[in-house]
Amino acid sequence: AAKAAGKNRLAVYEPRLAVERHEHMRISAALRRAVAEEEFVVNYQPVVDLATGRVTAVEALLRWSPEGTPVPPLEFIPIAEQYGLIVPIGAWVLRQACRDVRSWHERFGISVTVNVSGRQLREPGFVSVVLSALRDAPLPGSALILEITESVLVSSTGASSGGGVSDVAELLSSLREAGVRIAVDDFGTGYSSLAYLRHLPVDILKIDRAFTPDGAQAEEMAFTRAIVELGNSLRLSSIAEAVETPEQAERLRQLDCPQAQGYHFSRPLPADALDEVLTSSNGVLPGARPTSRPVS
Ligand code: C2E
Ligand code: MG
Ligand code: MG
Ligand code: MG
Repeated sequence: AAKAAGKNRLAVYEPRLAVERHEHMRISAALRRAVAEEEFVVNYQPVVDLATGRVTAVEALLRWSPEGTPVPPLEFIPIAEQYGLIVPIGAWVLRQACRDVRSWHERFGISVTVNVSGRQLREPGFVSVVLSALRDAPLPGSALILEITESVLVSSTGASSGGGVSDVAELLSSLREAGVRIAVDDFGTGYSSLAYLRHLPVDILKIDRAFTPDGAQAEEMAFTRAIVELGNSLRLSSIAEAVETPEQAERLRQLDCPQAQGYHFSRPLPADALDEVLTSSNGVLPGARPTSRPVS
């Protein structure tokens, strides 16, 4: 049986790996062209204040559709990171996001939150890339939030990165001097150490979707409550991710979670579509206001 399984594995997996390798090469070549041609689009997903329904921020989410077929970010971003292409792509996203949010900031006080990969953060000159995106929009630093995943923050404070703690802390501090806020993306996934929260100037926790309560089970709610309470007691303004139903929104309100985003409030939208939504709703999403309906 083992031999048969081994044979199978050869027959089944080897060609698949070859296809994957080929696909990988194809995507990286297409990405290189896309950078040159600026083939990307940024969509924006509202983040709402759970108490009022007001849009506090929008998350910039990169979209790429070579020849009209969308490729999911989770497929092309890791490849862009591997080839260093995320550096020019990320700089482009920052500039575009700062420009797009400018009028929403002026009209509704909305900030923009931009995902930054570890590769970008470690690139010398990252702070000047951010500052020039702000200057050219123009947008005040207080209207920009940078999302950095927990794993990047943890690895940069680890002993393995040599002088890591001070490097990243210094970098984040100089951004903060410009008013820029830092959010920990995918908070709660994979790390038991919270030490980095004490050492790094962090402003916001983006609570990973794994902790958005699905049902009303006590254990599940206990995790969500613990994370929300951690954020509240550290005076970090938590944002719950991937809220898809009114029940989930209501439970998060009961737990005193200040902010949320997810399909329940709005999908990520192209800038012009979001502009229409914000204009017609005056910056307060109707479906995001608390209801008086009790949740069982
Ligand atoms: P993320 O930063 O955690 O972004 C949230 C993801 O959740 C987005 O996926 C968003 O479309 C999705 N989402 C929002 N609401 C819901 C919901 O209610 N239910 C579900 N199931 N999903 C929801 P998206 O746009 O596919 O992006 C995936 C990841 O790609 C992002 O995760 C982020 O890590 C990365 N990414 C996207 N844009 C950029 C970028 O400009 N730069 C970098 N470095 N990474 C990016
Ligand atoms: Mg994010
Ligand atoms: Mg996230
Ligand atoms: Mg994520």
